[in-house]
Amino acid sequence: MKAIRFMKPEVIEYSDIPTPAPKRGEVLAEIAYAGFCATDIELLTGEMVHIKNGNTTYPIIPGHEWSGRIVQVGEDVRELRVGDRITSDVSLGCGECGECRRGHYNLCPNREVIGSYRNRQGVFAQYVAVPQRHAYKLPEGLSLEEAALAEPAATAMYAVTKARIPAGAQVLVIGDGPIGQLAAQLASVEGASRVIMAGSWDEKLAVAKSCGVSETINYHREDVIERAGELTDGGPEIIIETSGSNSALTSAVQALKPTGRIVAVSWYNGPAVDVPMNTLIVKDAELVGSLASPNSFEPVLRYMAEGKLKVKPLITHIRPLEELEDVVKMIRAKKEMRIKILLRP
Ligand SMILES: [Zn+2]
Ligand SMILES: [Zn+2]
Repeated sequence: MKAIRFMKPEVIEYSDIPTPAPKRGEVLAEIAYAGFCATDIELLTGEMVHIKNGNTTYPIIPGHEWSGRIVQVGEDVRELRVGDRITSDVSLGCGECGECRRGHYNLCPNREVIGSYRNRQGVFAQYVAVPQRHAYKLPEGLSLEEAALAEPAATAMYAVTKARIPAGAQVLVIGDGPIGQLAAQLASVEGASRVIMAGSWDEKLAVAKSCGVSETINYHREDVIERAGELTDGGPEIIIETSGSNSALTSAVQALKPTGRIVAVSWYNGPAVDVPMNTLIVKDAELVGSLASPNSFEPVLRYMAEGKLKVKPLITHIRPLEELEDVVKMIRAKKEMRIKILLRP
């Protein structure tokens, strides 16, 4: 099969490699679309924590967001058939340990992560093999194109679940990238009366508005804390921080309404992040971390199929897989507006 491999930092190769065979309990799928994610860039530069600590090594086939069709099933596969349209989890738990048995397969000590951790093969390729217990059949009427956003949507869904949004709450989402866009829509679905998005690109904020966000704040021009306070009469009860910037996390603590909750669904650089802890304590508030997307694919696939979660406006580019190098150049140039780029093997 054709696949993209990162051979070492900044070296991309598109070449023929052996097609994987499905092991016991696995299905082999032909990939229709693969989504490009910021973590794929970290893998390319070598900045990813798994590369630094040796849990992921070059060469590696990157990519973890995908949709496709089953072409072969391994031994003991009962629930799925050749021809089924599927997507899959990214964290693949062992299924046996205590964490897996409690449903926390994102924390399984034996886990592999598609396209990164422990070099589990990624989806920037023609085919991928995944365990049946981590595969999800696509609902009727949901396109393969839309389903390729299931993983970022599930990541946003898990964060929104952890936010435990009180009915009618006002929610601030920080970040206008894919996770922010998806979390904003899901917050409405999960009971927020009003969602405000803070971001840096007017065009992306406009997309969020077209998908139902009530108000937007461009933090290049406006003060997020002040503006969020005005819009919500005293601050949002829930803040979902998707930008990964330390200053955004600090602003979140300052903007939050007393007794509110912040969910951080991002990765912060550096060994430690400064949080104005006393402000959080004085506000009697909560700060919650959210890792990956456990148990969150089924609801988002349903929401997408029902039209409650609109992902088509977020797909700004569809490119052939072999053009990955150009895609990376385009991303780094930071001139063109992009939210989600899909690659077609
Ligand atoms: Zn991703
Ligand atoms: Zn496990």
